[in-house]
Amino acid sequence: MTDTLSIGPRRRFWGWGNAADVLSTTEQEGIKNTLSLLRANAEGVASPQESDVLLRASRGTPPSALRSIFSNSHYDRLTHSYGKSFADLLRMWQRVVPNPPDWVAFPNDEQGVVDLLDWASTHNVAVIPFGGGTSVCGGVEPAVGESYAATVSLDLQRLNRVLEIDTMSRAALIQAGAFGPDLEAQLKPHGLTMRHYPQSFQFSTLGGWIATRAGGHYATGATHIDDMVEATRTVTPAGILQTRRLPASGAGPAPDRLIIGSEGTCGVITEAWMRLQTRPTFRASASAIFADMKSAVQCVRMLAQSGLNPSNCRLLDADEVANFHIGDGKSPTLVLGFESADHAVNAAMQRALEIVSDCGGSYDASSVNQSMQNSEGARSGAAGAWRDTFIRMPYLRDPMIGRGAILDTFETAITWDKFDAFYAGVKEGMQRAIKKATGNYGLVSCRFTHVYADGVAPYFTFSALGSASANLDQSLAAWCEIKRAANDLVVGLGGTSTHHHAVGRDHRSGYELESAPLFRSALAGAKAVLDPQGVMNPGVLIDPAGRKVGMSGILAA
Ligand SMILES: Cc1cc2nc3c(=O)[nH]c(=O)nc-3n(C[C@H](O)[C@H](O)[C@H](O)COP(=O)(O)OP(=O)(O)OC[C@H]3O[C@@H](n4cnc5c(N)ncnc54)[C@H](O)[C@@H]3O)c2cc1C
Repeated sequence: MTDTLSIGPRRRFWGWGNAADVLSTTEQEGIKNTLSLLRANAEGVASPQESDVLLRASRGTPPSALRSIFSNSHYDRLTHSYGKSFADLLRMWQRVVPNPPDWVAFPNDEQGVVDLLDWASTHNVAVIPFGGGTSVCGGVEPAVGESYAATVSLDLQRLNRVLEIDTMSRAALIQAGAFGPDLEAQLKPHGLTMRHYPQSFQFSTLGGWIATRAGGHYATGATHIDDMVEATRTVTPAGILQTRRLPASGAGPAPDRLIIGSEGTCGVITEAWMRLQTRPTFRASASAIFADMKSAVQCVRMLAQSGLNPSNCRLLDADEVANFHIGDGKSPTLVLGFESADHAVNAAMQRALEIVSDCGGSYDASSVNQSMQNSEGARSGAAGAWRDTFIRMPYLRDPMIGRGAILDTFETAITWDKFDAFYAGVKEGMQRAIKKATGNYGLVSCRFTHVYADGVAPYFTFSALGSASANLDQSLAAWCEIKRAANDLVVGLGGTSTHHHAVGRDHRSGYELESAPLFRSALAGAKAVLDPQGVMNPGVLIDPAGRKVGMSGILAA
């Protein structure tokens, strides 16, 4: 076994964050409340120690020229065995890891990536690109079937620098392994920001965001990573694919579009030119409540179609505010925000509040934080409280797993015309699925993460008692049944299998339902050119030509 090569603080392999992170007293109280709502009374299973989890012996031998970047230490293999979905964490609690990577490689530069892919392609070794490992759809688990000689998880964490900044065009060349806080810290001295804040910001990377088409915290405007990519550089087994920096182009299908969302199946993104923004200094925020979901939804649609482009336009349904103790704890609540680096946003907020009133919403005028340049005011209040809760949410899930609880989320997008029936159908269908899988009803709530002129991205959270006796096998079986039902529901009712979490292995069934077979064949053709031996992340999105990997993840039948 080699030395550990991961850098930075030790990560919690069975949960979110760093091994040293602790929960506040209020958070512990919140967990107790949720467990009591779910009637989770069993004492529970102790959180696992690294030494509890046995990994099979590593297969294959790294090439001698690359030996120094290869690790098969227990910690490196363990922390690259899964992403961070509920099922991933639960299997860690079970101490069950059937598909650890045989090796984890940490290239120091792009040449290391090129050499590694050359070697992997000639030795039938599957390569799983790994950014922060926060995938929630089975995107980084080396579950590649039986046809490969070995698996290597390729971790980009050493490629973490902002290489160049073009302040005139407001763009930067950034290496793919940079984590959110690192890249923002390197941009800050220049007064610039990428302004991309997924909930996983602290532990996910630029390359992962591009590969999964991640969605940031902001509700409208440039919030999907797609909007921010100016050019990409990708090492594929067939060579380097570099696209050209341009503000826009009409020259045929856009090459970046093949890479954005490719989920590691075509190659390894090593760097990208990203569009930046001047750091906002004017802000305004407010929150409003509604008597019912229908009027709240109408209000959000009108705001989305108004051209005001609020930075935050997050509608939480009545179950969401009740479950997370937000606002009055019972009314659909809209959290609204505006920001700009250039001008005051008071007028936009005033107009938005008129729309709120027109739709029957009410707000406390004294709690509207009008923007003052550089003021902290608009960061506080309901919007500030929401942001703090949002960032801490993932930490609360972990301790509940060992008590038999199931807590998970899924997200989608749907056009406005179908929304009402979709929302009702998903909530009702999920309760039915939870009852069937566990014998009890659970908690199912919804919020909007992104809004568009033609539709919305609803984000559902569900919790249930998977096993009253904290039997984790039972919890996992119940989760699989509920997750399959969720996949079928969102696509069956007209939505997409994912708005920003990606397809990975776990959403393949929905992806195959929603995408045209002809399109998938075209994609497979492109993959076959870039990755002729089919070694790049097999089992994700589509099968490599000539191999049947199929749904190889946890949801495989
Ligand atoms: C608590 C929590 C909150 C989350 N919140 C959000 C959110 O708000 N918005 C959102 O969009 N997602 C969210 N996610 C999902 C996840 O964080 C995103 O999918 C993120 O983009 C993954 O980035 P990563 O660096 O961790 O990538 P990884 O998980 O390491 O990899 C994800 C996929 O991308 C591929 N990949 C990674 N790096 C590269 C590269 N350089 N080249 C080619 N392929 C690569 C991998 O092979 C894999 O298929 C959340 C996840 C968790 C656990």
